Amino acid sequence: MQKTVILLKPDCIEKSLAGEVIGRFEKAGLKIKACRMMRLTDNLLKEHYSHLADKPFFPEIVTFMQSTPVIAMALEGENAIGRVRDLLGPTDSQAAPKGSIRGDLGTDKMRNIAHASDSEDTAAAELKRFFAAGDIF
Ligand code: ADP
Repeated sequence: MQKTVILLKPDCIEKSLAGEVIGRFEKAGLKIKACRMMRLTDNLLKEHYSHLADKPFFPEIVTFMQSTPVIAMALEGENAIGRVRDLLGPTDSQAAPKGSIRGDLGTDKMRNIAHASDSEDTAAAELKRFFAAGDIF
């Protein structure tokens, strides 16, 4: 069993697709273990997207990710980290296959509906980043 973190990004919130996206994860058997709505601060985004901090599009990502509050969730299931990434599809929504969340609902490379942890190490770091221990059930 693994826990993974997803963030429902501002394009998901603005298009009122949170229910659709959460439903896809639940139908795949993943269980919700934590959930909170929050505004992402500059410092949190610098930490969360540190691997992109020197990219020319980083300021645009910050503006986008702060354009509405996001919904952060912890999901649990067998091989949850890889399965959630598979359900999501690749970063570029235009290249993501139909049937994947990003392929069906996303717009482009940046507006791609949701974030998901990409390894056991990042999942562990992101659980700590977004939730207090007592808020994960
Ligand atoms: P993923 O979210 O699929 O793990 P990355 O960690 O590479 O992908 O990128 C984090 C986020 O930064 C992406 O989900 C997307 O919102 C944004 N992003 C990545 N690459 C680009 C790009 N070339 N142009 C604009 N935004 C991007």
